[in-house]
Amino acid sequence: MNPASLGAFEPGNQTILCKASRIRLQSPINLWTFQAKKPKKWSSLVGLAPLSSSQMNTQLTGHSLVSGISIQETDSVFQAINPANDQALDPAYKQLSSDSVDAVALQAKKAFSSYRNCSGAEKAAFLRQIADNIEAVVEDLVERMPSETALPEPRVRGEAGRTMGQLRLFASLVEEGSWADARIETAQPDRQPLPKPDVRSLLSPLGPVVVFCASNFPLAFSVAGGDTAAALAAGCPVIVKAHHSHPGTAEIVGQAIMKAVESCQMPVGTFSLIYGSGREIGTALVQHPAVKAVGFTGSRTGGTALMKVAAERPEPIPVYAEMSSINPVVILPGALQAKGPQLAAGLHGSVTLGLGQFCTNPGLVFLPAGDSANSFAEILKGALTETAQGHSLNDGIAESYRKTLQEIAALNQDGVTVHHDASNTGGDQKCQVGTALAQVTTEAFLSNPALHQEAFGPSTILVTYQNPEELVRALSTLEGQLTGTVHGLENELGGATEIISALQERVGRILFGGFPTGVEVCHSMVHGGPFPSTSDGRSTSVGSMAIQRFVRAVCFQSAPDGMLPDELKNSNPLAISRLVNGTRSTDPIS
Ligand code: NAP
Repeated sequence: MNPASLGAFEPGNQTILCKASRIRLQSPINLWTFQAKKPKKWSSLVGLAPLSSSQMNTQLTGHSLVSGISIQETDSVFQAINPANDQALDPAYKQLSSDSVDAVALQAKKAFSSYRNCSGAEKAAFLRQIADNIEAVVEDLVERMPSETALPEPRVRGEAGRTMGQLRLFASLVEEGSWADARIETAQPDRQPLPKPDVRSLLSPLGPVVVFCASNFPLAFSVAGGDTAAALAAGCPVIVKAHHSHPGTAEIVGQAIMKAVESCQMPVGTFSLIYGSGREIGTALVQHPAVKAVGFTGSRTGGTALMKVAAERPEPIPVYAEMSSINPVVILPGALQAKGPQLAAGLHGSVTLGLGQFCTNPGLVFLPAGDSANSFAEILKGALTETAQGHSLNDGIAESYRKTLQEIAALNQDGVTVHHDASNTGGDQKCQVGTALAQVTTEAFLSNPALHQEAFGPSTILVTYQNPEELVRALSTLEGQLTGTVHGLENELGGATEIISALQERVGRILFGGFPTGVEVCHSMVHGGPFPSTSDGRSTSVGSMAIQRFVRAVCFQSAPDGMLPDELKNSNPLAISRLVNGTRSTDPIS
């Protein structure tokens, strides 16, 4: 390791005011006009000499985006690999030196002391500015993201829209203000046998949050994704650890956020984007005492490793990791009989969407054994066989998908039938994969742990059941899942309460009809579930409830009115909905 002093973000003399707190901060930030202090180690400098020869407006730099402090990088570089042709993409990205993790985390901590005091209106303006800045670089994303991920242009546009929508949803939430869950119990000095004190509480931001980008959602679960939006809305600075698969996409969005930090006069350090290995830099960030929570989407191995790191800190912190889910779909006999072909077509669409690289991919389908199940399998097999091969997000994901399918193929014996397996295409490109379909009896399913694991690609397993009791037994053995789906005719759902209860115990979202791959971003969405679908089934990563990940309740007892946050003041200056002596109200307290 040979750290080079970057100093590219030379602290300037501007004064940044966080309008709510009126705290003066030394501002370093002007990403587009700063001067390099020690350029000798760099082949190019941020904003000065673009490394990309493309037509993009965003100039990719190959460096972490940090402002206000000097950081160091190691000599090791990595490049995104185009999954469609295995070619390396410029620029090469440098890894942050582990020595600089401390400076980045401490800067976020410093930013927290003022950012936490920004008003809902100020945070809303900031979040909307981030969304607007992303909107302005959508064409850059359309140019860069497909080459890093093999995801098609419509997906880029759709996911960018969703990302902006999430930011704007959180903007509206914090602007309105009632999310803070203000609770007020006024004093009763004459209460017998003891006087009752004045007790007031609200939700308060935790502190700096580290967010790990997801490989499979380069926008909506990455740099400006749900966790970042929720943390910023809560009042927490964010340090994002980029995913090695799509560093350029990350930088385009990262620069859009840096611009918003500057134009909205948010404290320096409110946002940073870091490039480096998960095991080294990611772990060091999670271990840092200034960091107070973690958002993660990825493998079970990575998620559980970070949970362990966080739990072993002198001060353990929450890790919100979304890891693996196989999303059971239950088809009841009447529904299979009445609309088998239609359900097979819908399932095919859901299994192959995005080459199956969705956390909500339906990987397990329970259906009653018999002729209808066999016809269903034939129709699905036909559709999957005709489905074109595609390119996984990266070679690691392709390899792990093939390995999982090999483990299932090795079970091809009594009770396990592999109808079709094109996971290994035999093609030249490392990332090329195809569809797969297996069918197993419930008995075989229950006795083979290999059938319970996530196969991250366009495949699914049909599990046939003999009777409802066997189905309930199988559902009860499932690990925690993000979703569970039931297809039943109206007249058979009423008799399926045990099946639905078994699902409810194991999943975060139950669908009646349809397929689980689409996740609506809204106030009531729950995209979470018992372990290992997530590390903490009490929260969601999609929708406005995600703000609760990054807050804790704080209570003020017998505080003078002037010392209280606006949310708890007698006059209710924010006009928010509060729980006052057990009754919801927007009225001031006289
Ligand atoms: P991953 O390997 O877990 O990587 C995700 C992030 O975590 C990366 O930034 C990685 O750093 C970091 N990381 C991984 N292991 C770590 C460790 N032990 N300590 C600290 N940081 C660590 O996930 P992936 O690359 O996105 O995909 C791999 C597999 O995860 C897929 O095949 C799929 O099975 C699963 N996956 C599941 C979901 C879901 O939502 N269910 C979503 C995506 C992926 P580096 O950049 O250094 O690798």
